[in-house]
Amino acid sequence: MEEVLRQSQKMEAVGQLTGGLAHDFNNLLAGISGALELIETRIGQGRSKDVAKYIAAAQGAARRAAALTHRLLAFSRRQTLAPKATDVNRLVDGMLDLIQRTVGPGIDLRHRGADDLWPALVDPSQLENSLLNLCINARDAMPEGGRIVIETENRWIDRRQAEAQDMPEGQYLSLCVTDTGTGMPPEIVARAFDPFFTTKPMGEGTGLGLSMIYGFAKQSGGQVRITSEVGAGTTVCLYLPRHRGEAEADGPDTGKRPLPQA
Ligand code: ADP
Repeated sequence: MEEVLRQSQKMEAVGQLTGGLAHDFNNLLAGISGALELIETRIGQGRSKDVAKYIAAAQGAARRAAALTHRLLAFSRRQTLAPKATDVNRLVDGMLDLIQRTVGPGIDLRHRGADDLWPALVDPSQLENSLLNLCINARDAMPEGGRIVIETENRWIDRRQAEAQDMPEGQYLSLCVTDTGTGMPPEIVARAFDPFFTTKPMGEGTGLGLSMIYGFAKQSGGQVRITSEVGAGTTVCLYLPRHRGEAEADGPDTGKRPLPQA
């Protein structure tokens, strides 16, 4: 519990700080981009090849910096979620092509969906972002190629598991992404959800992926867990609350057991 509090306070503080900084940076970048455009038009056609190259490089850097500040702004804004009954298997199927194109042909991508999966109560577009992010992390951990398995399952979290996993007991769906990559030593796992923690080279990682996924999972009433073994691979599991309500009749329902009493 203390750990959860520490993590959410840290995210709150970092969120406020980054929000302010990213906003100011964005304004400065707009100035830089505007000035570069003016330089380009003023110098016109008569410029040397070298000058054109330097201007293009500066414009490219300004564009990348702007993309980064947008990510920071998105991180600092507390996401407003629009949760609804979601068929997670269908959502994964709908993303497989995009994921395969993103991770490249060297990765063998599989989806093992549970047949009788409950509908989840979750914001589908945020779930798509999270899944893509997890698959990109998996790919980054497999520079020589390998396998990504996306697996869904119905989970009954009882009191004992709830305590161990730091989440309320109840019915959840798990969406796990497993890779055959480098794995993470325990000291990296311990810091992986920290905002801005990255082991990737400058310009390649922001260290925001897992912390955003953590925020999304907690805000959705779920959880996220990492299990990893160095040299063998990593599994990151998102636990999403089961949708219970009117729409439940539309979805597959095999959960005949009553919800445990609080
Ligand atoms: P980023 O990907 O920008 O570094 P993340 O928050 O997504 O930021 O990840 C933080 C760190 O956790 C990564 O830099 C990496 O060291 C580690 N990590 C995340 N996912 C994996 C994975 N599937 N396998 C190995 N290491 C991982």
